[in-house]
Amino acid sequence: MHMVESEQDVALEDTDRIEGRSALVNNTNAALALASAVRSTLGPRGSDKMLVDENGEIVVTNDGVTVLETAKVEHPTANLLIATSSAQDRIARDGTTTSVLLTAELLRNALELSRIGVHPTIIVNGYRIAVEESLSQLEEICRDASDDDLIATTSTTMAGKIDTALAKKMTGLALEAAHALENEEGGDDLERIRVKRLQMTGGGAAESEIIHGLMLKKQRLDFTTETHSDGGKIAIIDGGFENRELELDAQIEIRSTGVLSGFQERKRAKLAEQVASLSSLGIDLLCVRDGIEDEAVPLLKEAGITAYRRFEREDLERLSILTGAKMVREANRMSAEDVGNYTNRAAEKIDDAWYVRIDGEGRAMTALLRGTTSTMREEVSRAFDDALGVAFRLVREPKVLPGGGGTQTHLARHLRSYATTQKGREQLAIEGFADALEVIPRVLAENAGLDPIDEILALSAAQVENGSWFGLDAMSGEKADMAELGIHDPLFVARQALTGATEAAITVLRIDDVLWANVEPSTPDWSNQIDED
Ligand code: ADP
Ligand code: MG
Repeated sequence: MHMVESEQDVALEDTDRIEGRSALVNNTNAALALASAVRSTLGPRGSDKMLVDENGEIVVTNDGVTVLETAKVEHPTANLLIATSSAQDRIARDGTTTSVLLTAELLRNALELSRIGVHPTIIVNGYRIAVEESLSQLEEICRDASDDDLIATTSTTMAGKIDTALAKKMTGLALEAAHALENEEGGDDLERIRVKRLQMTGGGAAESEIIHGLMLKKQRLDFTTETHSDGGKIAIIDGGFENRELELDAQIEIRSTGVLSGFQERKRAKLAEQVASLSSLGIDLLCVRDGIEDEAVPLLKEAGITAYRRFEREDLERLSILTGAKMVREANRMSAEDVGNYTNRAAEKIDDAWYVRIDGEGRAMTALLRGTTSTMREEVSRAFDDALGVAFRLVREPKVLPGGGGTQTHLARHLRSYATTQKGREQLAIEGFADALEVIPRVLAENAGLDPIDEILALSAAQVENGSWFGLDAMSGEKADMAELGIHDPLFVARQALTGATEAAITVLRIDDVLWANVEPSTPDWSNQIDED
């Protein structure tokens, strides 16, 4: 960002106004302001940011997307960038700061190009050519991840955010869960659906574990029923265990005849019928999403059925996957093929709270996340969430690229020579794209206290000599083989950052002056944040 307005800048702004570039100037400034807010968090030596959120609470974070989502921003371009980084977070679970820095840099270079007379349409074309070529280069230089690489890559994505021991622990748990889901069908949200996160007291973070079954903080409806079973049949009701029809009838009946006992008898009879039908299906474990009628409690016990009620829907879905039981709306609609099998069940009281663990053949798991304080447990949960998000995607697509700015340096070098094969002015846009990519090694160097210009030149030279897997080790300042050091960026993260940033930049380049006819939004104000080291 231009902190100091030189005379030349002022002159340029005047020309921009006359030549109708003021929208682009305004948008680019907003993007650069936003980028400067997250710039210092990039990489393992990025600093933490202290922010004040809308409730006046102080948030300390090293995460680009958190910085952006906490800030109150009203500029449409800034909001577009925030949306791009949120999409990056959703799709790739990493690379959010990178995508913002890239977008802003692409816009900065586009503005420069438009000032020397390159039309935005040409810039858009050039950027499109450049991103396509970059994506195919990623395929060229990426390599298949070994088991060790999976570990190194997952922990690299947490570098600078949490301490190394915790990162290592969470990486192990995340990969265990990710491997268990490796051959399961489903979309990107599978890791959220299939892995329950449960914060537990007792023990430190290091005692966190994955259990291949479901652990639920629940107590049995009737304490006199069995606490353990080494297998049996389970039914899941996605509703209540009651009879609503009868309730309605009863109100009418009571009002008209005043007879209460007759109604209660009929209700009991209906419930008994329902329990009998569950019992005839061999069910000994009943899980009900809503309530269970009081009158049903002794009936269920008599039938040898242990019952649990009031479930979150996600937990019922997990139970269904784990045991093969289908969710049925009402007990009397239950048939043999809706019944599932569990292999073990154990109820246990821990720190005054009841838990039940249910095991089965299906792939649903629970991450037991421990920590000595609630703040610690929250941190452990967040770290696990990040680690699993990346590990799950990485196991599905086990391809990695050099980290430490190596990938972007390679792409920049490649694009500069590739540009010469392209026609006319698009060449300039492709070069602008190449320059923009170098923002990543530049900022990594900056945050490590190194000279960005020297580092970019040295890294480029090191790659010419040693190949494209050379990057900057931000810890030592050495230019080194990133494969050897295990500093990787997952392919899916780099791919999404490139496409997301390019799409966002192109969207801004296309915004025409119509949008700005009535309003002239100001650049976002970041004065409420403080850099922390
Ligand atoms: P993002 O939000 O974009 O993921 P991060 O703060 O997580 O931002 O930083 C990611 C960048 O840090 C990647 O480019 C990655 O290659 C780089 N990186 C991670 N560890 C190292 C390291 N030891 N040396 C140099 N760069 C590193
Ligand atoms: Mg990251």
